[in-house]
Amino acid sequence: MSEHTHNSDCVFCKIINGEIPSRKVYEDDKILVFHDINPSAPVHILCVTKIHIDSLNEVNSENISYVSHILEKIPEFAKSFGIDGGYRVVTNIGEDGGQSVKHLHFHVIGGKKLGYIG
Ligand code: AMP
Ligand code: ZN
Repeated sequence: MSEHTHNSDCVFCKIINGEIPSRKVYEDDKILVFHDINPSAPVHILCVTKIHIDSLNEVNSENISYVSHILEKIPEFAKSFGIDGGYRVVTNIGEDGGQSVKHLHFHVIGGKKLGYIG
């Protein structure tokens, strides 16, 4: 099963449930935002859905509201960190995409000149 509210093997579900600490930025009923433990830029936060979704591949009409809520809020987070002039949003998918935590999350990265990827 690729989607349920809690996956006991998932590090981000454990963060959502308070079993693992995080440096929280924002929380509401649908999403949790916290600082990446291994930042790749001066600002590097992770936006996660509060239900377990493996990756963007598992997004559907039932769970899209969690994802769209993240996208709606990201500009606010960027503004609050003073990076709204330019930043990057990334979601890695699967092994070849470099996804190490199998719980859908969006990296918001900024605070320095970012190199081109593509
Ligand atoms: P990805 O490689 O796209 O799956 O991203 C996973 C991200 O989660 C990496 O940037 C890790 O540094 C980050 N990460 C892993 N464990 C934790 C944790 N306990 N608290 C905060 N960030 C974490
Ligand atoms: Zn999870």
